Amino acid sequence: MTGKRATERLDADDAGIARAVEILRRGGLAAIPTETVYGLAARADDADAVAAIYAAKGRPSFNPLIVHVPDMAAAEALAEWDERARSLAAAFWPGPLTIVLPLCADAGLAPAVTGGLDTIALRCPAHPVMRDVLAGLGTPLAAPSANRSETVSPTQAGHVLATLDGRIDAVLDAGPCERGLESTIVAVERDGGWSVLRPGPIAVGQLAAVTGTAPEDAGGTIRAPGQLARHYAPGKPVRLEAQTARADEFLIGFGEVLGDWSLSPGGDLAEAAARLYAGLHRAAQSGQARIAVAPIPHEGLGTAINDRLKRAAA
Ligand code: AMP
Ligand code: MG
Repeated sequence: MTGKRATERLDADDAGIARAVEILRRGGLAAIPTETVYGLAARADDADAVAAIYAAKGRPSFNPLIVHVPDMAAAEALAEWDERARSLAAAFWPGPLTIVLPLCADAGLAPAVTGGLDTIALRCPAHPVMRDVLAGLGTPLAAPSANRSETVSPTQAGHVLATLDGRIDAVLDAGPCERGLESTIVAVERDGGWSVLRPGPIAVGQLAAVTGTAPEDAGGTIRAPGQLARHYAPGKPVRLEAQTARADEFLIGFGEVLGDWSLSPGGDLAEAAARLYAGLHRAAQSGQARIAVAPIPHEGLGTAINDRLKRAAA
């Protein structure tokens, strides 16, 4: 299931959603909007469909995929849940939180979804279009970001087409994503510990308020295999913490540093997160040879934004 595909552009109305469900049901690939970024979805129980995700993205196969479910009942069938994990899901689902748990022996998913690990990453997304697709299909969906591996994540349908046009069967266009950063990934360990494998829209403090315990800072026994130092590469050198632009730079501003284009002139971190990837796409397409980015506070959502910027600059 590799090679050239004609990519259908679908509106996110009833007809478009029905068409996406039909494509996915027969094992095809469709890019679907979520509140974080656009996901490249395929049936998680179909080995060929999952293999096609890895092929379309050019993604290394040791890098496991997040499995998306419509509700808690579907999630219970795939992983071994304990009370802490359930309280995290109750607090943040549907939403931008991915929970890594021990995989059920009889989950029935393609082994490649979990990269051969005995854990699974689960998320119940909030975006109404993704929720409609999951409900219409009735099987869990594997869905990494809908872009070629290592490139900047897509927060608009046009970003998806920029690297995947002709490699996937469809993209459902529902406009820009509200959060703009990939989900927070939390690992819940059998021994009672928990750790954040990837910072994201849900801050560590919000998680700790629910678990009642501090995270293990070194990370527990569960690792996130795909968190490569280099990721989100815009294809040009990136300089961080820039107050002013040098001659050949496109400066992405924030707050008082206005730059050529600002993530948020008012210094709002939620707005900056939502616009981050659009800014990197814009800078990549500009006439300047290099990209500079204004300082972003290293607190709250700024932690996740700086994590992505560090990888873009690596
Ligand atoms: P994404 O590319 O947004 O789909 O994120 C997938 C990332 O989730 C992977 O690169 C891993 O870092 C992490 N992940 C997925 N499954 C697991 C797992 N079973 N254990 C630990 N991390 C996982
Ligand atoms: Mg990605």
